[in-house]
Amino acid sequence: MSAPDPVLSLIRPEILALTPYSSARKESSGGRVWLDANENPETPSAGKPFLNRYPDPQPPDLVNALATYYGADPANVLVTRGSDEGIDLLLRAFCRAGRDAILITPPTYGMYAVSAAIQHARVVSVPLLPAKNFAVDAAAVIGEATPDVKIVFLCSPNNPTGALLDRAAVLQIARGLLGRSVVVVDEAYLEFAGTPSLLTEFRSLPNLVVLRTLSKAFGLAGVRCGVTLASPALIGVLQKIIAPYPVPTPVLQAALAAVSPAGLAAARASAIQLVAERRRLAAALAKLTAVRRVWPSDSNFILFEVTDSARVMAATRAAGVVLRDRSRDYGLANHVRITMGTPEENNAALEAIAHV
Ligand code: PMP
Repeated sequence: MSAPDPVLSLIRPEILALTPYSSARKESSGGRVWLDANENPETPSAGKPFLNRYPDPQPPDLVNALATYYGADPANVLVTRGSDEGIDLLLRAFCRAGRDAILITPPTYGMYAVSAAIQHARVVSVPLLPAKNFAVDAAAVIGEATPDVKIVFLCSPNNPTGALLDRAAVLQIARGLLGRSVVVVDEAYLEFAGTPSLLTEFRSLPNLVVLRTLSKAFGLAGVRCGVTLASPALIGVLQKIIAPYPVPTPVLQAALAAVSPAGLAAARASAIQLVAERRRLAAALAKLTAVRRVWPSDSNFILFEVTDSARVMAATRAAGVVLRDRSRDYGLANHVRITMGTPEENNAALEAIAHV
């Protein structure tokens, strides 16, 4: 008898047993006259072609281009409505309501806990270590991962603190929890870090899942296109529970342009520019009297500690500049986060904070 799959054995049994909805586009894609899906033969209001048709559930051109960009096989790719949908799908696939749990490392991205609450999954928190630049405490994560913890969410670079997690620590966690939990590494901001994805460790660690998005480096937050990268077996399970047509045709067109050679080159140039701004702003912020500390960042934002976050927020608001007060996040009293804008936008923020 072969060993149980270290990931499939953690999936909710009713999801494994589920017969998914079989959409018209899944059942048939050939033919000349399409009368199978209760679509309109045309779009009366618009000249745009094909919007009258349901899109391919996972358009192969986009899946292939994303696989190439991320260094994965097409079978490792699931395109979702933002990476937020990937988070939600994972919760629903692994966590039985009222019984299972996830583990997060605060301060971190808020949707992990919100998606857990929606699924009625308990949240175990193992804080990052502020004394070590918000490093992850790998031994504590492994130690606190009780048998009900099905998913560990790690965010690298982490939002809102900004820095990468230590690669060896993430791998130690994934290895330590093989067969017990999946380890989801959210790499939404990786393009700004200039380091390779954890995806390269995929083949030896089937419980590793990587989340990516077109919302940040590709500047397509309005398009809602995220990517879940996982073992083909897990991608197959997520495909069973995702909504029938998660890649709308206008999203497909924008995403294909983004991952074309010209789109990739433009995104690379933009990331270089935003990283240069990050360096400039980190140095400039550190010189301001209202600023007590600037945390190192590998992303397109900077977290900084101020003497009085309410005053900084009021001053920037008065100048029409919107920052994010992170003071309510775990351990982040008087911390503000600034996203890198254009040089002019960043200067407007600096000027407003300088007046505090
Ligand atoms: N992960 C992290 C760490 C984020 O900060 C965000 C958005 N702020 C997301 C995921 C969600 O991104 P999207 O749904 O736009 O892909």
